Amino acid sequence: MLTQLEDLWNYAQSISNDDGPNPEPPEFKEINRETIQKTVEQIDAKLAGNEKASSKSKAKLHYIKQNFEKNLEKYQEQEAILGERKSYSKTDTDATFMRMKEDHMQNGQLKPGYNAQISTENQIIVNYTLHQNPTDTKTLKPHLENLKETYGEEVFQEMEDITADAGYRSEENYDYLQEQGLTPYVKYNTFDKERGKNYQKKHKPFSKENLHYNQEEDYYVCPMGQKMHKTHQSRRTTEAGYIQHLSHYGTTNCEGCPLRGQCFKAQGNRTIERNHNLERHKEKIRELLTSETGL
Ligand code: SF4
Repeated sequence: MLTQLEDLWNYAQSISNDDGPNPEPPEFKEINRETIQKTVEQIDAKLAGNEKASSKSKAKLHYIKQNFEKNLEKYQEQEAILGERKSYSKTDTDATFMRMKEDHMQNGQLKPGYNAQISTENQIIVNYTLHQNPTDTKTLKPHLENLKETYGEEVFQEMEDITADAGYRSEENYDYLQEQGLTPYVKYNTFDKERGKNYQKKHKPFSKENLHYNQEEDYYVCPMGQKMHKTHQSRRTTEAGYIQHLSHYGTTNCEGCPLRGQCFKAQGNRTIERNHNLERHKEKIRELLTSETGL
């Protein structure tokens, strides 16, 4: 109905006889009863007595007038069921459409289901949780919070190490595990790649990971020895709503550098973006996973 209303609004503006500027369009994504009413009245005023207005547009407006109240209620109910999800099953409204590992048709078809998580201690299942979110990253924290609630703070505090695959890696999870005093044997996404034979060859010496960093004075050194000072800080919100803090660095003059073609492709001087908190976690995980215990 909102799409119909938006189309009708645009149509009414296009055939309007008013010489003045068109009114500000309503926000059609999140719309409430009052806005719909006002929009319908505005469209009505534009179409009424306008010989350019088609009978189809008038019929559409009539339909919206008759039905928007009950449709709006239905949408609001559906939105309440949906919550933060992107879909739900009509026959089991708690189930969410997800891509399944089992895919007989081999077409990646989405099926209604739950994301079940289990954790084990010495091969015994000690906790399970069901999630409506298909992304594993977002399940780690609620799963462990559930474990804490089930066994109590004291037992939770006795836990030392946690092992999980790279599907659970995220800066937010690493921060959380650190706060909880847990040693994270949780791979980051490029861990295996970094250890591959060709990685060092391919990335040396121009990749930002291989640039020398002076932590005390907070600057990087480019392959030609030029200092890359911090230019600014920025923030990025992840899909999960976590705020990442990013530091940006740049050279002052790359013009005429003989390494320019190999070093970077963009225009102007070279700039890099670093997430120091994430890098710090990665460094620790690299150490843990290559230690005797980790291996
Ligand atoms: S192109 Fe710029 S950043 Fe790259 S090596 Fe040369 S001076 Fe350094």
